[in-house]
Amino acid sequence: TGFFERVALVPPDAIFELTKQYNADASESKVNLGQGTYKDSSGEPWILPAVQAAKEEIRRANHEYLPILGLASFRHLATKLVLGESSPAVVEQRVASCQTLSGTGALHQAGLVLYEALGPSCTVYITEPTWSNHRQVFEAIGFHVQSYRYYDEATGKLDVTSLEQTLEAAAPGSIFVMHACAHNPSGCDPTQEQWRRLATIAKSRNLFPLFDAAYLGITSGDYDTDAFAIRHFVNDVGIEAAVCTSFAKNMGLYGERVGLVNFITQTPEAAIAVESKLAQLTRVEISNPPAFGARIVAAVLGDDELRAEWFRNLSTMSGRIAEMRQRLYDALVRLKTPGDWERIIQQKGMFCILGLPLARVLQLKGKQLSFAIRISKPTLTVAYDWRELRETWMMQSWLL
Ligand code: PLP
Repeated sequence: TGFFERVALVPPDAIFELTKQYNADASESKVNLGQGTYKDSSGEPWILPAVQAAKEEIRRANHEYLPILGLASFRHLATKLVLGESSPAVVEQRVASCQTLSGTGALHQAGLVLYEALGPSCTVYITEPTWSNHRQVFEAIGFHVQSYRYYDEATGKLDVTSLEQTLEAAAPGSIFVMHACAHNPSGCDPTQEQWRRLATIAKSRNLFPLFDAAYLGITSGDYDTDAFAIRHFVNDVGIEAAVCTSFAKNMGLYGERVGLVNFITQTPEAAIAVESKLAQLTRVEISNPPAFGARIVAAVLGDDELRAEWFRNLSTMSGRIAEMRQRLYDALVRLKTPGDWERIIQQKGMFCILGLPLARVLQLKGKQLSFAIRISKPTLTVAYDWRELRETWMMQSWLL
């Protein structure tokens, strides 16, 4: 027998598998409704003008190794961007930071540190539904991962009662993975008032919030608005937390893998210790992070004009996504399509759960996809997870 007899075949990742099928599809009118990547009005990837200008600026940069924790200017600028210029935690030096391999790498680093800090008996709570990678990122570390009802399929809205009850009932010290904005895949976020309540419960129950911040700025078009939940928990309520930030979506730097993990601690000493742990973990895993994307982000954030341009680019992207939602909704209503389509315009961000049954989705995916293209052209990125669609079977309305 060979050495690898005991290695079981792992099924391909649903979203990347769909993109593979999409790439292989010869249809001229195909559209990728799976992967959350922004496209412009011709259905093409968009290199943000702010990013293009930053690339010109860094064109003479060398290719030396970065420090283990990453590019210092990137870490400092990005930390202040996320937590706010006047964040007490930043001012009091209670923030550890480490450059990561995009948002996924940040979640993994955060999980590794928390596993060491809190131990294997600690539960990680994730929403149901959630981004398809959350469960396996934390299970791979060794955590027990528990999901709870977040989204009400019948109404297409946030189930805030379930959310609050789960926080109230969780054991102190439990980790809650919170989508900072534009919940993936439901597009349903708590209101600011609801976030305030959640922060109060988290504080009183001594829970640990781990913010997954993959869509800051691209959701409402205003960075500060999208960072509200993080800043409220950290700055106003003073909770210890982790923030996993990705620049994939909001700078269009998907393949450059540029992200940041921040730990907000009670004391500067704890921040130093956590940062040393992050350095060790990075050294073991990748030695030091990639430079190109971090240089771009630092160039954008470090220059007033480029930063202003980026903020304009954010509102262009979020505005186009909102317009696509409205156009798809209007078309479905105009065509008197049976079903309740309000959720398309109520849900936020790149994703939307249409609430279609699996059979309908498969039909749309195949020969009848042209129907969706005609009405939503050029691109509304609609995400779904096959498992979620199966589970929502009973609640469906019919499109065709
Ligand atoms: N978290 C959420 C909720 C996401 O939707 C994504 C990407 O789709 C990520 C994290 C990670 O993205 P990346 O690793 O490309 O930054």
